[in-house]
Amino acid sequence: MRTYARMTGLYAPTLKEDPAEAELASHRLLLRAGMIRKSASGLYSYLPLAWRSLMKIEAVIRDEMEGIGAQEMLVPILTDGELWRQSGRWSAYGPELMRLMDRHEREFALGPTHEESFTDLVRNELRSYKQLPVTLYQIQDKFRDELRPRFGLMRGREFIMKDGYSFDADVEGMQKSYNDEKGAYARICERVGLRALPVVADSGQIGGDTSVEFMALADAGEAEIVYCDGCGFAADTEAARAPINLVEGEEGDLQKLETPGCGTIADLAAFLKVPEAATRKALALVDGDGKPWVCFVPGDHEMNDVKAEHAFGAYHMMSDEELVQYGLVKGFIGPIDLPEGVGSCADESLHDSAWWAIGANDAGYHYVHAKQGRDFTIGRWVDVITAKAGDRCPKCGAPLKAARGIEVGQVFQLGTKYSETMGATFADPDGVEKPFQMGCYGIGVSRMLAAVVEQHHDEHGISFPVAVAPYEVEVVPLDVNDDVVWPVASHVAEELLAAGVEVIVDDRKERPGVKFADADLMGFPYQVVCGKKAIKNGNVELKVRATGERTEVAIDEVASLLS
Ligand code: ATP
Ligand code: MG
Ligand code: MG
Ligand code: MG
Repeated sequence: MRTYARMTGLYAPTLKEDPAEAELASHRLLLRAGMIRKSASGLYSYLPLAWRSLMKIEAVIRDEMEGIGAQEMLVPILTDGELWRQSGRWSAYGPELMRLMDRHEREFALGPTHEESFTDLVRNELRSYKQLPVTLYQIQDKFRDELRPRFGLMRGREFIMKDGYSFDADVEGMQKSYNDEKGAYARICERVGLRALPVVADSGQIGGDTSVEFMALADAGEAEIVYCDGCGFAADTEAARAPINLVEGEEGDLQKLETPGCGTIADLAAFLKVPEAATRKALALVDGDGKPWVCFVPGDHEMNDVKAEHAFGAYHMMSDEELVQYGLVKGFIGPIDLPEGVGSCADESLHDSAWWAIGANDAGYHYVHAKQGRDFTIGRWVDVITAKAGDRCPKCGAPLKAARGIEVGQVFQLGTKYSETMGATFADPDGVEKPFQMGCYGIGVSRMLAAVVEQHHDEHGISFPVAVAPYEVEVVPLDVNDDVVWPVASHVAEELLAAGVEVIVDDRKERPGVKFADADLMGFPYQVVCGKKAIKNGNVELKVRATGERTEVAIDEVASLLS
């Protein structure tokens, strides 16, 4: 017969003291509650309680994915290096990609994400527009050699991710698939109990948002966000690691840039079509050889700091190769700290190299200067929103607020980035071969658990929302040897079990204080305390973990109340 879970049989080695290495509440509490254990830097074992919570998060994800018609499957974690070469990411991904060789010296990578694998999967099998759209997803361990693995499950080197990929015949189709995923992501966050904000990651050119990150609001978050209460605008200040799509600019734009001139910061802002001080921008350009470059432009506070001798400013145009050389992800745009000697035009030796510079003189003016006889075609200005609290909202002008967030998920319109480079095409109604319009969608399942704990804890421990709690109810018999108390506790647990409630009984021969402390630490949403005094009145005590509220409930009513 099915029986309820017991604390005596549970592998959850709790810690009395705070582990020294754990800075964040989630890291500390997941370790202390015996839910995770570190095996090496950025590598964690999920112990039974954590695993139950993770399975619940996954169940919510699966349910929402089914709701939008996405199909679950699995591709190998180990990916062929050849695929990464085809997409160009073997070099572009940089040192975060965990690479290895087999005995025949063939190169492989442990998948950090699987755009290549899924594009490869469908390229020979989805042949006609009639078979589209298709959205596939998997829930699997991912590997990233993070520069600084830290904060427990928050930034691991191996972590659980749900990653999905959509294949559509046209841009409108892709946008629908994207919007479906975006909607599902918002519901997933809500259902697991996260207060999360969809934040613009790149306001790219396809129209509307091309990428949104879901940020769980938490002081412990690594991401900085600005948002507007008025119009709902929200952006990641570190925004847009998105690839930059180069487009031809309008004629005359280049001319404007080539003319050295003076003006105020307001002039510059007007020229850039950005709110003053609120944004930084990157300019994507292509040179005469069709080679892409990215130019970084500072916010005005930095412009004012530029000294006369640094007249040309520390803003440098970088080629694709340079971006990789300096350890920047291709297409990374936004404020960067340039390596010594690279950034400053005060270095005379660099004046004649292939530079464009935007600078300021000591009066705080700016001018744009071109050298180099190089023939550039202007691209587009790419919004990189780095506004701070108090800046005006670029949408409605109201003052922006700042917050910190944990990136729990990201949805992305990819367009034909992978399908084109990897030759993944289908036949349209006229029989013309076209590359798939793709989208990709990721949720950090294990990071989500950490984010839930960040948002739901107090000084005593975790306070899980019911949807992701390892068990919904803990029954706490104050004395397991008492022949009144134990039968009641056991009875209540059996009733709960029969009513479909996930219940665990603390059947340890411990003092009540120890049991209460562990129950609060592990964060079960409800505790049913069985003690002699209440039982005499036919009652047990129900404690709500989140509020601390306690009420006496009739023994026979507990199960129906909690189911
Ligand atoms: P971050 O900006 O925090 O490095 P990312 O933008 O590199 O994350 P994505 O490539 O968008 O991450 O991956 C999708 C999701 O996977 C993220 O939104 C996050 O929830 C999760 N994730 C990414 N890196 C890690 C990691 N090192 N440990 C745990 N979860 C991660
Ligand atoms: Mg990352
Ligand atoms: Mg990110
Ligand atoms: Mg991301």
